[in-house]
Amino acid sequence: MPSEFTLIDRYFRRPTHHTVLGVGDDGAIVRPSAGMELVISTDMLVAGTHFLADTNPEDLGWKTLAVNVSDMAAMGATPRWALLAAALPAATESWIERFAKGFFACADQFDIDVIGGDTTKGPRNFCVTILGEVPDGSALLRSGAKAGDEIWVSGRPGRAALGLAHMQGRHVLSEPALADCLAALHRPQPRVALGLALRGLATAAIDVSDGLLADLGHILDESKVGATLRIPDLPPPGIERECLLAGGDDYELVFTAPTGRHADVARLADRFGLALTPIGAVETGVSPRLTLLDDEGRPVEIGRRGYDHFA
Ligand code: ADP
Ligand code: MG
Repeated sequence: MPSEFTLIDRYFRRPTHHTVLGVGDDGAIVRPSAGMELVISTDMLVAGTHFLADTNPEDLGWKTLAVNVSDMAAMGATPRWALLAAALPAATESWIERFAKGFFACADQFDIDVIGGDTTKGPRNFCVTILGEVPDGSALLRSGAKAGDEIWVSGRPGRAALGLAHMQGRHVLSEPALADCLAALHRPQPRVALGLALRGLATAAIDVSDGLLADLGHILDESKVGATLRIPDLPPPGIERECLLAGGDDYELVFTAPTGRHADVARLADRFGLALTPIGAVETGVSPRLTLLDDEGRPVEIGRRGYDHFA
């Protein structure tokens, strides 16, 4: 079995591109760009909770970093640096090599330098700390939604949850929906370019990790507003509707923007080849007031809103 240090050197130490000092010392050194603020976030993936024990290691490596990159996207930040704390049950090189391949594929796609971490033995668990940059004062927050704003969502949320339901035998998907939903589950695509384009345009933003309604609820809470939702093509009651409204793990962005900027947002859909759908309006009112209307304008009963680890 290779030692801890051999593992780090072999699989987690890669050349950096915009870092003063990377892996190999007691601490890394970075220099933020002039006029930029650092945005910092951390997210953990635990075996059994966030991924199934037999998940393909390459997919898992991708997702471990991608969910963190998504937080940068939601802040309107450019991801720049990441640290990886990994607990591994054994130093199985074939597994670690594939995990690192997926992890660094995501790092390369978003030009992120991996600058440090920690490697220990234990139940499989990955914790990434990510650092990004935004021009001073321009980060997208959850707290800026105003009554009258439109509410938008990117992509087609609910697919990752449907893919998981299929894998767990709670739902049966057939091709091409199956491949589409499994890709959403295993290879989420953080919306970094969209997040950057939303600076100065969106009034609030969040990424959908726990569920559309739950995560939108955080915007409403932090902005102290309510909302009425009219979701186009809302599926009939059943698992598809539930996955759309409350399924986590899609890492799409939900955001609010002034109605007067509707055309500017719509243009981004063409620019990025990404669906951007208006799903409702922000209203005055005490959060968490959230009303969902069907196509005929009748209120829809809202059940579960999303995933809660301790509920
Ligand atoms: P220390 O004992 O000082 O905490 P470590 O031996 O844990 O240092 O780590 C040695 C170097 O390798 C450090 O620069 C650390 O940031 C880096 N490192 C450890 N594990 C990882 C990992 N999984 N991915 C990236 N860098 C790592
Ligand atoms: Mg250490």
